[in-house]
Amino acid sequence: MAQSKRLLIRGGRVYDHDGDLHQPALADILIEDDSIVAVGAGLSRDLVQDAEIIDAAGRLAVPGLINAHYHSHDVLCRGLFEELPLEMWLLYTLPMGGNRSKEEVRARTLVGAIESLRAGITTVQDMLGLVPFDEDYLDVVLAAYRDAGIRVVFSPMVADLPSVSMVRHKDALPPDVQEMLGVKALPIRQQLDFLETQLRRHPAAATLHWAIAPFAPQRCTPRMLEGCAALAERHDLAVYTHVYETRGQALIARDSYGAHGGSFITYLDSVGLLGPRLNIVHSVWISRAEMDRMAAAGAGIVLNHLSNLKLKSGIAPVCDLRDSGVRLGLGCDNCSGSDVQNMFQAMKMFCLIAAVSEPEPGPGLAHEALRHATLGNARTAGLDGRLGAIRPGHKADLALIDLADPAYLPFNSAARQLVYTETGRGVETVIVDGRVVVRDRRVTTIDEDALRHEVADLMRPFVTDYQKIVQSRQRALPYMLDAHRRVWQAELDLQRFLARTR
Ligand SMILES: [Zn+2]
Repeated sequence: MAQSKRLLIRGGRVYDHDGDLHQPALADILIEDDSIVAVGAGLSRDLVQDAEIIDAAGRLAVPGLINAHYHSHDVLCRGLFEELPLEMWLLYTLPMGGNRSKEEVRARTLVGAIESLRAGITTVQDMLGLVPFDEDYLDVVLAAYRDAGIRVVFSPMVADLPSVSMVRHKDALPPDVQEMLGVKALPIRQQLDFLETQLRRHPAAATLHWAIAPFAPQRCTPRMLEGCAALAERHDLAVYTHVYETRGQALIARDSYGAHGGSFITYLDSVGLLGPRLNIVHSVWISRAEMDRMAAAGAGIVLNHLSNLKLKSGIAPVCDLRDSGVRLGLGCDNCSGSDVQNMFQAMKMFCLIAAVSEPEPGPGLAHEALRHATLGNARTAGLDGRLGAIRPGHKADLALIDLADPAYLPFNSAARQLVYTETGRGVETVIVDGRVVVRDRRVTTIDEDALRHEVADLMRPFVTDYQKIVQSRQRALPYMLDAHRRVWQAELDLQRFLARTR
């Protein structure tokens, strides 16, 4: 049997969710192969024999951050536009997930992975728009993740109703505008059989994990959702789906799901999805009664404040969600919707949105934001007990933060400064599955300079294609703007429907 590989991280402060949140104690961390085997001050010589040593003096070891909502398909769209209502944004981003070269798909996956690693993110939940929906392209994405060395909870999205179903009163749009939004979808069986086959071809192992991702309730028939529930059950997988991201989506539930009391949560329940496996992403426009049902069912919610603000979707009801006791996770969402893969921003936004939502001073949520970004997000994928903490028995996924960075000058509180002052700049070393993937702020697994050149070459045709899309979408804009305005005007009514406590 091959000798196990040992790595000792010596002399750093180690962030412990249940320990001193402000001045974490000094401890050594011993890693054997892919797992943490011991954490403690001055580990015995016998234990650490033959270990490679990383000197962590002046560093803070934090559990690897997990991004519980991400799409790698539009990484190259970052910075192409500013605020836009989601329904108009769909006009520009959906086509860019379309038929692209394998080189481009590999490059965008790597760019997102590198950006994430450099910001201390060791796991991404990639809800991928896989186009074309075939094996070759899927293999390119998984190979890129493997090469980058980041952990991925992978879930190609499925939907059997077309993208235009995302827009309220879609039938009132001219046919060519509907077409721009997408009027086609693949058959259910083709999609679910494909996933079943891929789960066998690439069994979960090392840094690959799977999840099931029906795009959104309004894009799936009951039969599709039942198929997803069965697949998740059969393979013991988590489920992620977009729910109540915009006002328009909450109104679609009211308009078109009367048989389910106008509630997507009731609809998801009716197809067997409301349970501990389920994570609904966004839930900006969820009612208090629905939160309570989610909490009682053990289902979870992944918040994405950054994209919700940029895409004018709204502000998730953080205080009510906390009161309801529903389990929470945090995500960064698309690179075109929030422009950045950075959990420090997501954590800070969680605290700030909570702060501005209540008149009274709250309890201070920095440590809670850290829990959501690690333990809570691990739970979304069913990986609790394996990810999210620096503890023996957990996977060796962690980041070392340089406490000499000005963000920690002076060092008053680990939890508060990680959330409020860290930008990602302090992330110096990152370890995933026991492997050092960032050292001295450089990714060790991929040649970043070569990738930069490759992306520069790929961007010439990409930008040309993008400009063509923008041009061709001009005609749709007045219709989409009008639809969006009408949705906003319906908000007062919507607020009464939501019956929030505040
Ligand atoms: Zn999303």
